[in-house]
Amino acid sequence: GMGGVGAPAALYLAAAGVGALRLIDHDEVGLSNLQRQIAFSEQDVGAPKVEAGAARLTALNAHVEVEAAGERLTAANAAWLLEGCDVVIDGTDDFETRFAVNAACVAAGIPLVSGALGRWSGQVGVFAARPCYRCLVPEIPPEAETCARVGVVGALAGVVGSMAALEAIKLITGAGEALTGRLLIYDGLAGTARTTRVAADPACPVCG
Ligand SMILES: [Zn+2]
Repeated sequence: GMGGVGAPAALYLAAAGVGALRLIDHDEVGLSNLQRQIAFSEQDVGAPKVEAGAARLTALNAHVEVEAAGERLTAANAAWLLEGCDVVIDGTDDFETRFAVNAACVAAGIPLVSGALGRWSGQVGVFAARPCYRCLVPEIPPEAETCARVGVVGALAGVVGSMAALEAIKLITGAGEALTGRLLIYDGLAGTARTTRVAADPACPVCG
């Protein structure tokens, strides 16, 4: 998804020269997106995000192969849309999409980097087989907040997007220790971060 998390992540991955990027987003660029989705410019408003994003990423690094999939990812098409990917970054902000991405990644054995934003906080985790994202979030929270509803500071989206790109680069290269089975929670207001382990849920409907 080419949103607040996905857009900066894609910029750094393209700049790093990852071989191929597949952008999956059904949305169009809106003026209110620009404070955090810095892959886009004012002249992109109204354009499909994957088209504007692909143009921006290709301008940044012409050696990266960019695929634009301008459709909404659902449980029905997730396996097909993610087929052939070595790593998936999920920066979407609705739980139905997150669940669909997670289930497809678990089924296909693709490591998943998950990035999420709150008002002033962000979190990044990596899920590979078990525990999966659904172990962390078993059901859709009743009062789920989205960026569009509560607002988020653009720089925080950049922090989380950059951390997601970093985790993807670690998974691709094998460098360091990825946040696999862990969740890094960054409190932007306090300027503090903590990392917790995610427990595998024996009753998880996806990986249990
Ligand atoms: Zn699970």
